[in-house]
Amino acid sequence: MILIVDDTPENLISLKKVLEKHNFEVDTASSGEEALKKVLKNSYVLIILDVQMPGMDGFEVAEAISGYSKAKETAIIFLSAANTEFKFIAKGYSSGGLDYITKPVDMNILLLKVQTFYRIYDQNRKLNEMQKTLLEEIEFRKEAERKKDEFISIASHELKTPLTSVKGYVQLLERSVNKGDTETVKKHLGKAQMQLEKLNSLIADLLDISKIESGKMKFNKQDFCVDTLVDNVIEVMHQSNPEFKIVKKGNAGCTVHGDEMRIEQVIVNFLTNAIKYSPGTNEIQLTINVKDNQLYVAVKDYGIGMLPEQLHHVFDKFYRVEETSQRFQGLGIGLYISSEIIKRHGGQVGVNSAYGEGSEFYFLMPTNLQTEV
Ligand code: ADP
Repeated sequence: MILIVDDTPENLISLKKVLEKHNFEVDTASSGEEALKKVLKNSYVLIILDVQMPGMDGFEVAEAISGYSKAKETAIIFLSAANTEFKFIAKGYSSGGLDYITKPVDMNILLLKVQTFYRIYDQNRKLNEMQKTLLEEIEFRKEAERKKDEFISIASHELKTPLTSVKGYVQLLERSVNKGDTETVKKHLGKAQMQLEKLNSLIADLLDISKIESGKMKFNKQDFCVDTLVDNVIEVMHQSNPEFKIVKKGNAGCTVHGDEMRIEQVIVNFLTNAIKYSPGTNEIQLTINVKDNQLYVAVKDYGIGMLPEQLHHVFDKFYRVEETSQRFQGLGIGLYISSEIIKRHGGQVGVNSAYGEGSEFYFLMPTNLQTEV
């Protein structure tokens, strides 16, 4: 929009008419004071400013405007008598473009200048937008790079821990074997095996991430009995975490079409997290049912819970709740993989949680979707 500032009403009217005829949006002010008020309220591309006005003159208005952040990009065309001294204008106003036209105004020249300033304004706006997008892109990449570095350091640490344990147990095994102490050999073998399984599942998760990234995660979908799957998972989880009671509520009562091992992976992930993030508690609920051909599985714990702003991110890749990441080991990829698996079965994952009270992770998926998603 253009603001014309002139104390002579006839000038205002005629300038406005010409500019509007050329499709420019125009506002007017009949004094310097009124102009300042308007500039504070609105954004103008250009101000056409009469130099000689009673009260505040055009130069004073320009100088005052130079302090407004709102008018940083605004250009000014001064209208003045031919003999006006111009050299001190620049000192007052240096941010937007400046130009002048002597009175009586040659409308063609004025229009040319207005069009030029509009073009510059447009180009500036586009440049600013481009710069903003570029800066955002740089920030995004920096953040991704930072996350990746952090992930590599966590992953190496997580892989090293079970590996060091296995090395230790193998050394102990050697001694026990030499002594012929079969009982201790069995104990150490069992422990080494547990650590190897941990290592195996960490590496499997890492491989899953790269498969998801490259679009190479394949599914072997068949009909399977989801109730049997859930019962088996609960039994195995209970064996390795005997202190936890896992209470099953409901039944699917039908087969589900999907990749059984991948669905098992999701349920195991929910249960493992429920146990991991609920120290000092001993019960977990698993609810399962089917309504309108939709399988619903939810795992509820009474553990540390999460804050509302954290819930938005739990299914993001590499996300771990900052405050608790030191206390609990993890890579921050299990839930991301789970959500990808469920999405590829045409379903969705979700979470309800209250800080300090516990969380409930669930998924919904069609029981009979035959096609690839
Ligand atoms: P990991 O547990 O390896 O860090 P996940 O992707 O499984 O990775 O989980 C991401 C984050 O979500 C966890 O780091 C944790 O902060 C939070 N989280 C997941 N499950 C729970 C839960 N049951 N209770 C509280 N926080 C959880």
